[in-house]
Amino acid sequence: MSETAGKPITCKAMVARGPKQPLVEETITVDPPKAGEVRVKVIANALCHTDVYTLDGHDPEGLFPSILGHEAGCIVESVGEGVTSVAPGDHVIPAYTPQCCEVSCIFCQSPKTNLCPKIRGTQGQGLMPDGTSRFKDKDGNTIYHFMGCSTMSEYTVLAEISCAKIDPQAPLDKMCLFGCGISTGLGAVWNTCKVETGSSVAVFGLGAVGLAVIQGAQKAGASKIIAVDINPSKFEMAKQLGATDCVNPKEVEGKIQSYIAGTMTPWGVDYTFDCTGNVEVMRAALECAHRGWGTSCVIGVAASGHEISTRPFQLVTGRIWKGTAFGGFKSRKDIPKLVDRCMSGELPIDHYITHTFQGVGKTNDAIDALHSGDCLRAVVRYE
Ligand code: NAD
Ligand code: ZN
Repeated sequence: MSETAGKPITCKAMVARGPKQPLVEETITVDPPKAGEVRVKVIANALCHTDVYTLDGHDPEGLFPSILGHEAGCIVESVGEGVTSVAPGDHVIPAYTPQCCEVSCIFCQSPKTNLCPKIRGTQGQGLMPDGTSRFKDKDGNTIYHFMGCSTMSEYTVLAEISCAKIDPQAPLDKMCLFGCGISTGLGAVWNTCKVETGSSVAVFGLGAVGLAVIQGAQKAGASKIIAVDINPSKFEMAKQLGATDCVNPKEVEGKIQSYIAGTMTPWGVDYTFDCTGNVEVMRAALECAHRGWGTSCVIGVAASGHEISTRPFQLVTGRIWKGTAFGGFKSRKDIPKLVDRCMSGELPIDHYITHTFQGVGKTNDAIDALHSGDCLRAVVRYE
């Protein structure tokens, strides 16, 4: 155990004090991990749109003050009572979708899903499983957790079942990307849709998630990959990763779905993916899925209150509408495998890191970069 084990740690963190306000750099206290918990030193954190979405006040369940961040690489500092699967010094990726692996967990036991509900209730309330927070500000007031991760802090506390232990040789300032967006895009293709060799695919939205869908589809052997974005500066990277066609919906006459299913292909494409979070795009993606068997997967997170719609005839004529959370990956089992594939050179991810910053205090700059439109992932290294 480290010398800090069992004691509170004082460190720097970016605190979200309220919606639509910049994060505030503060000195906070991180309490020691309780039973079944793990305290980690955060080495690097990548910004994801879900953090910004909450900070911008779009998440009706967003709690303040809180510490955001959920795409990180960490080193275990100390562990609480009963923790056996990780030890101080281990390298871990925090997983907002935990994996309890209990025999009584019908979700963990089913190969059909990764949605382990074990700590869902408290995670949604910004608390650890015992119903309390490990974070306090300088006045001793509680700060809430976020998505079971809260990695915009030099130290954080995770549930043991949220820790994916990875190869200690793997650089944490890159592997952090497997904590959310990249895994989600790859898994949507491989797990949720099980795209087969020779399939045709259309990807709407070419941020890091959409580009990971393209990378995954190319690996799965898709023969046609249509990349769709209203920002044509995204097309170059899409092509490098395997897109065969690029389309800007603003430049086609009529609806994009009619252009893809009609002009570009006679009956639509086998698999389509929404990576925008826009419900109109979700509809377009469904409606250009192939008549008779096309599957459309919702990945984007829509603004609160928005609903999807289409004519039921679209489903009657054989289209399938589905969605994915974290690409269907079982976090603790699968993240280490993704890391190994990356380390072997088979799954390159460097191209997603367009911006880097030094020090947790630079997180607001990383958020600005994310808003700029030319950013895929901004990684903030903490030391
Ligand atoms: P991003 O903002 O970097 O990328 C979105 C892209 O969509 C941009 O390139 C933008 O130009 C494009 N776009 C916007 N409107 C469009 C339109 N009408 N037609 C075509 N393209 C359009 O976002 P990202 O980080 O890649 O994330 C994508 C989505 O996935 C977000 O909604 C995010 O919250 C969500 N997400 C979901 C999960 C999950 O588990 N389901 C995990 C991670 C992220
Ligand atoms: Zn479970």
